[in-house]
Amino acid sequence: MSNIEQTLSIIKPDAVERNLIEDIKKIFTENNLSIKESKKIHISKDEAADFYKVHQSKPFYNDLCLYLSSGPIVVMILEGKNAIKENRKLMGATDPKDAENNTIRKLYGISIDKNSVHGSDSLENAKKEIEFFFKS
Ligand code: UDP
Ligand code: MG
Repeated sequence: MSNIEQTLSIIKPDAVERNLIEDIKKIFTENNLSIKESKKIHISKDEAADFYKVHQSKPFYNDLCLYLSSGPIVVMILEGKNAIKENRKLMGATDPKDAENNTIRKLYGISIDKNSVHGSDSLENAKKEIEFFFKS
């Protein structure tokens, strides 16, 4: 059974700043995730707060919003078989020091906050997050 999904990926400021956009995109395309849309943007802290509102009760929320709005990011729609799970697998664990070898966060992440990429974690959130950046 084919299970073609779309998911939202973000290349975060730490990775954009280090010119890792093409290296990260290549990991997706070489692993059967095609990039349907891609744009480089710089969001405000308020937009970041809206995007990350599921985390509003967390102690790291304010720093997270400041960080995501600190510089340009690349937002993408990735498409492929089981795209949500496959993208999360390619990303690796939230904290780069716990991420498996050859995952994006192991290769490029600096710390738990500067972990280079975001990826939707469920079908429902993928729809919401794609809508947030691409359908407004
Ligand atoms: N984060 C953080 N400190 C923490 C946990 C998370 O700065 O203790 C940041 C980190 O950048 C992470 C984001 O908040 O990517 C969202 O957290 P989540 O638990 O959803 O991790 P993810 O889905 O990105 O792996
Ligand atoms: Mg998450």
